[in-house]
Amino acid sequence: WDLAAAGLKVAVISRPRSRGKPCAGGVTEKALARYRFSIAPVVREAVTSLAVSHSSSPVRHLSSATPFCVMTERAELDAFCREQAEQQGAVFHETAGLRLIEQGSSWVRVKTREGDSFSASWLIAADGANSAVARMLGERHLPGAMAIEGCVPREKVSDYPPMTLDFGVIRGGYGWLFPKGDHVNVGLYVWRHGVAAPERAALQRYCRARLGAEAEHVAGYPLGTWLPKARLVNGRVLFAGDAAGCTEVLLGEGIYGAVLSGQLAAQAVLGERPEVSYPRALAGWREELQHVSRLGQLFYGLLPVST
Ligand SMILES: Cc1cc2nc3c(=O)[nH]c(=O)nc-3n(C[C@H](O)[C@H](O)[C@H](O)COP(=O)(O)OP(=O)(O)OC[C@H]3O[C@@H](n4cnc5c(N)ncnc54)[C@H](O)[C@@H]3O)c2cc1C
Repeated sequence: WDLAAAGLKVAVISRPRSRGKPCAGGVTEKALARYRFSIAPVVREAVTSLAVSHSSSPVRHLSSATPFCVMTERAELDAFCREQAEQQGAVFHETAGLRLIEQGSSWVRVKTREGDSFSASWLIAADGANSAVARMLGERHLPGAMAIEGCVPREKVSDYPPMTLDFGVIRGGYGWLFPKGDHVNVGLYVWRHGVAAPERAALQRYCRARLGAEAEHVAGYPLGTWLPKARLVNGRVLFAGDAAGCTEVLLGEGIYGAVLSGQLAAQAVLGERPEVSYPRALAGWREELQHVSRLGQLFYGLLPVST
């Protein structure tokens, strides 16, 4: 959006539109404030109350006079953001995947499996925690957090819940219930790969216990959380979002870091020497992520598991 609005010729190469990547679609107030446009048309619920539980203590209800988070459906949010970028002049190209990346001192070229070829002065790789661009450039895989999610139609839910975080239902993480109007999104999060397995069976157990029904459309995915040596730049490629480890580790909020780093990458491309200015611009957020990472380690290390 930013690059197209500034008048650059922008090609967005992405997978075909589908249900959307696994994501609970919770957009916090701070993430909301970063968007260049209102996402109101795709907001399903505005959240003013949060239930937090752990078996060792009573459920706490936290509330706020104004919404601190809004619930969206990820496929709807992505389609809406795409429309906004297209209105600024960005052109979307769908591909089943990438075949080749080549770069020189002032250019980068991407070839897709369909045989299409794109040349540009810069490539922003915002292709998620399993970044194919990073793999193709020989960058190391970054093992981060893991989460699994599914949906329960509202008519099957025994008791329609508020936004809920249940700590201790899985080692090193939490379970969530996100109300979305016609369904509830349910999921399990683990702060570090390997601490526990947020698997389908564990999700269904949690879902039956909390909502009295089984989850549908279950899917899991890694999250690109902070690591000391995250890849940010490789030649004419700037990494952003989960591909650059921009997700915070305590709750796994990644949309904020994705939007922020995308905007900073765009700003860098519009200025002088993006390879220097981008890591500099992202340093403040990376420092925050590092602090949250220490907090996560401490928090989940001390948290008793209740099952
Ligand atoms: C189960 C789950 C629930 C979550 N819930 C929340 C939440 O409620 N709130 C929140 O803030 N964060 C949440 N997160 C984290 C959040 O989803 C991510 O941090 C965020 O989406 C990262 O954005 P991104 O643009 O960097 O990458 P992604 O959202 O992963 O987007 C990557 C894009 O690249 C495309 N792509 C990938 N490979 C290729 C390829 N080879 N060729 C072409 N295109 C490709 C993909 O199709 C996709 O469109 C959740 C994560 C998970 C796994």
